[in-house]
Amino acid sequence: MGSCNIEFTMKNGSFSDVRKKFRSEQEDCEYNDGYSGEINTIDGVTDKLHKIFPDINSAQEWTLENCEKREMLAVRYVSIESTKSKKMKDKIDGLEEKLRKAEKEVTNLREKFNADIKNALSSTISCKKCESKINRSYVNNGACLVCGNLLYSPTMKNRLNAKIEKISEAKERLKKYRADIKNKVDNGSAEKNQNLEILVSGWAAS
Ligand SMILES: [Zn+2]
Repeated sequence: MGSCNIEFTMKNGSFSDVRKKFRSEQEDCEYNDGYSGEINTIDGVTDKLHKIFPDINSAQEWTLENCEKREMLAVRYVSIESTKSKKMKDKIDGLEEKLRKAEKEVTNLREKFNADIKNALSSTISCKKCESKINRSYVNNGACLVCGNLLYSPTMKNRLNAKIEKISEAKERLKKYRADIKNKVDNGSAEKNQNLEILVSGWAAS
């Protein structure tokens, strides 16, 4: 039988919270698929909550060096992911999602217009720029085969431009929010040392 690293993290609390969480992790493993998970080979968690590490990596290193096999140690560490940082991250994720959506809408609309031009009932379309008469079935990307001019009607162009404008707005909002965050971090007003979390880590038998 070998051993493997096993760990979980949780929000800051007391050692009795840690014990509760440990028990519920063991129960989750038991009910998973009938096999007991590696966490069930752990005999218990030892309270080392007075130890506070500057980041999760140094906390992991220390616990693995200092625990016995089949034991887990609970320590505290400073988390940059929690509370305010987490809120910032969620907000950025949301803004990025809006940008992707705006870009997707432009792509979809272009594809729709290109198909509309190709599949219209009349077999030819005239280019307003070079005045060529073009067989629609050859037009694949909505552009004139002779001069490259976009064959979209004014209505199509307006609708597309409105969607493109949404992309610029989304990009602008994202850029502004990123700049705001950078300022906050530079000024030190972003929360740092209050963001403690608990790491419970050790060696399980496997
Ligand atoms: Zn043309």
